[in-house]
Amino acid sequence: MDAKRPEIVFGDPFFKQSKGSRKLPKNLRFVCAFELDIGIDRIDQAAFLRKTAERDELWITEADGLLMLADITDEYVAREYDGRIVDYGSGCVFAASPIDDELSASLNLLDHLFRAWVGFYWPTKLLAAGIVKEADFNKLVAQIDGELKDNEEKARHNETEIIRVARELGLNPQPTGTRPTYWQASCPHTNHPLYIDSAKNSFGCGWCRRKGGAEELRAFVKERRDRRKNAAPG
Ligand SMILES: [Zn+2]
Repeated sequence: MDAKRPEIVFGDPFFKQSKGSRKLPKNLRFVCAFELDIGIDRIDQAAFLRKTAERDELWITEADGLLMLADITDEYVAREYDGRIVDYGSGCVFAASPIDDELSASLNLLDHLFRAWVGFYWPTKLLAAGIVKEADFNKLVAQIDGELKDNEEKARHNETEIIRVARELGLNPQPTGTRPTYWQASCPHTNHPLYIDSAKNSFGCGWCRRKGGAEELRAFVKERRDRRKNAAPG
């Protein structure tokens, strides 16, 4: 898969580009159904491959109970899913340049999806096999998990000043696992994380539109604490 890995031409893992309800397309090929840990809950997802002359698309939607019981044939998928109206949490998540091998195409697209979801969602187990069988699925998830743990290990062994500063400020920095130098920590007095690149000794918060080095991080935390103190009654 690595030698001639198809090029990704579209990515929308959080459905930011597909608002509202939409129809699933026809000619879906069942890839697999899997359980997804979304933090507050676990949901069942069904994944489909749609091949066109221009690209291989991965579509996902919530799997219903029927899917688990049925013998998942192309006829079943056509009957139950072709043209189905779906809502938020469904749609085309990734597309790549087309290749003949459906298994490689599906695994490559799932690989991109699961990596994009790291830190938000995690695939916990296969529920129903299609193009992707249980052994392929488990191998893919184990490989991503192994790389995450490897990156976390490297991050912990290469702490830099900003990580020590974030810890001293009580922001609880933790490696994200996505890169050997990527960390996340609590954005002060909010419920969201900020991100740190230890190699660059810099942090950034997209929500608060703040970034900088260790000194800016100290100033940011102080500013938030002062504001909180001043806002407190009495
Ligand atoms: Zn923030």
